[in-house]
Amino acid sequence: PCTEFDKAYFHAYSHVGVHEEMIKDDVRTGTYKAAIMRYQNLIEGKVVLDVGCGTGILAIFCALAGAKRVYAVDASEIALQANEIVKDNNLSDKVIVMLGRVEDVNIEENVDVIISEWMGYMLLYETMLPSIIFARDKWLKPGGLILPSHATLYMAPVTHTARYSESIDFWRDVYGIKMSAMLPLAKQSAFEEPCIETITGENVLTWPLMVMEVDCYTIKVQELESITANYRFSSMLNGSPSSDQHSQNSSQSKKRVKSDETIVLSTAPEDAPTHWQQTLLYLYEPIELKQDQIIEGSVTLTQSMENPRFLNIHLAYSSGGRSFVKESVMR
Ligand code: SAH
Repeated sequence: PCTEFDKAYFHAYSHVGVHEEMIKDDVRTGTYKAAIMRYQNLIEGKVVLDVGCGTGILAIFCALAGAKRVYAVDASEIALQANEIVKDNNLSDKVIVMLGRVEDVNIEENVDVIISEWMGYMLLYETMLPSIIFARDKWLKPGGLILPSHATLYMAPVTHTARYSESIDFWRDVYGIKMSAMLPLAKQSAFEEPCIETITGENVLTWPLMVMEVDCYTIKVQELESITANYRFSSMLNGSPSSDQHSQNSSQSKKRVKSDETIVLSTAPEDAPTHWQQTLLYLYEPIELKQDQIIEGSVTLTQSMENPRFLNIHLAYSSGGRSFVKESVMR
């Protein structure tokens, strides 16, 4: 059933701003377009399902690539605009816009291709992937194509001293007044929740670890309920960052063919920025790191009891003989 959480979620997608931000993210939209063109031979003359069509952009790309029919489904009222857009581009005979949850709509045939842009911050935020799994299990023909086919979530320790100073050290001296009493509150307010920010490759202390690999053809809903990864990083940095943070960046690979043919939509800090940015878990207290110092622990992502679209993040880490646990919620 459509819950209050779903209503709020779909309502958020009825606003123009979110679609503008996504469409203007050229890394995102351009990579989808490139993938559709790459697999044009598997789309031409075929039946496609666009799960969460928004303004209809991906459905229209598929129609222009020669799809026989495209079901464009969205539970947000944005589907009303999508329907107009389809008409204005004379594609009404090919693209069927449906307003409703993919879990609730009635599609009377199986499909050759499922396309969807379901990835949230830190890949899994928003919990939209279960809807793609639902559509796959209900309508995808055996041997059908899913775009994207795979997605990978990585994590790495990062440093971002400037950000720490700006939010925290600032309070040490305010117009000559000692305001250090603000520090606990400032740390709480700045770092309690995961931060969505853009960093660069220079902020990253060492090679990333794969937290989760999603194979869209085989992944099951139960596998998404709780994800744990153990990590052990050795800092490559020679120096002393005043704050060590864990960044989780997702990168989504479209389709595994030969490696030179793979189309990848990367959200890694060393690549061009996207609207997903990076998700940073700041530690409340900076840790000084020496070169080759080990940082180890585990991270667990679980769907929140409070709202299944939220993520609980349990980060356990130890370094230099000290251990901590940080719990946060991505709302
Ligand atoms: N495909 C569009 C929009 C992507 S945003 C584009 O690439 O620009 C994701 C969209 O999926 C949102 O519009 C949201 O309302 C929709 N959505 C999420 N879960 C859904 C579900 N279960 N059923 C139908 N639509 C869904």
